[in-house]
Amino acid sequence: MDRLHARYPFLQAARTAVATADVSLPAMVAEGAPAVERGRERVERALTEGTVESETPDTYDERAELLSYPIARILVSILESEAAIEKYARAEARTAIERLVTDLDRDDELRSIGTVSIDLNDVLREFDLEDAVRSDSDRRSADPSRTRYRIDVGPYLELSSREWGDRWRLVNRELADGSIPIDREDLLRCLERAIHDRVLEGLPFEFADDDELAAELSSEVEDLRRLLSERPRVGAIEVIVPDLFPPCMRNLIEKTERGTELSAPEEFALMAFLTGLDMSPEEVVTFCEGTSLDAEAIRYQTEFLRDDTGTQYPPPTCETLSAYGICHNEEDHWQVAGDPLAYYERRLETADEVVDWRERAAANGANGDADADA
Ligand code: SF4
Repeated sequence: MDRLHARYPFLQAARTAVATADVSLPAMVAEGAPAVERGRERVERALTEGTVESETPDTYDERAELLSYPIARILVSILESEAAIEKYARAEARTAIERLVTDLDRDDELRSIGTVSIDLNDVLREFDLEDAVRSDSDRRSADPSRTRYRIDVGPYLELSSREWGDRWRLVNRELADGSIPIDREDLLRCLERAIHDRVLEGLPFEFADDDELAAELSSEVEDLRRLLSERPRVGAIEVIVPDLFPPCMRNLIEKTERGTELSAPEEFALMAFLTGLDMSPEEVVTFCEGTSLDAEAIRYQTEFLRDDTGTQYPPPTCETLSAYGICHNEEDHWQVAGDPLAYYERRLETADEVVDWRERAAANGANGDADADA
């Protein structure tokens, strides 16, 4: 087991390392090995934060990190929720791509001393894409992140979705000789889909009612179920009144209005909050018009946050937002609510009269149309 396997546990080589190691998952679970707690954290963070990164990475060695992956797959199977499995797979894929970007962008010196041992070709080979994706010889760049590629149309259609926006429709791509040009960012998005599908393979595992391993994991499963049931109701708030948003969200919105880019945790928190208000991706795009947020990135993230069952990711808790420096506990309102949605709900309940942003936006649109017609 090595660092690469721990970092990318979906790789075939990592699976082989687990399968051939002298490891008994039931024994590990019975003795409460660190991989079990890390596996539980993996699922918890996937369902609540959209990532499987540990909050305390130094706590776990490479062995625990790698073995936490099969444990997490078992735990999410026992939860018996298709939505949970889907969210878990998305979070694994998202985290893997974030790690890959970090590793690809490390400088050559670090690569040469073996700190990083994965490159894009390794990942393409992993998914049998080495022949289907080629760097575009006319558009090579000294900056690897700006290199462009060509991808064969078959894999492109398999690994992309029209739901990602019009830009992804084949008619809007320059198809020539059975392949299309694609930049690195879009290629990574296709690879994220490939990793997601790989993580989903074989899930959920089936367990008999009297399965001993499932029984040994019952307290971890109960923890996860309790956590999910304690999460705030999402989608129950139907009125959008930006003036009543909590300070953390108002601060983030003001930042984007000044043209400042948000960090990844900031953007996730804001998108999860707006999605939690039951805003559709298009409404969020309209709401964020004229800010530093990119419309296509908003669509992608809000679609990621929502799911067909309506059980969206809740926004991170006040505690988590505080850890990221997003919350400053203004007016001591941790006393009032444990998460931004709950705080907003309280403010709505005590507000005298409220006008839904959607009504105002529709009225402005109608006025705009009238002005245009005049
Ligand atoms: S206490 Fe919670 S709701 Fe209030 S600003 Fe902080 S994160 Fe936002």
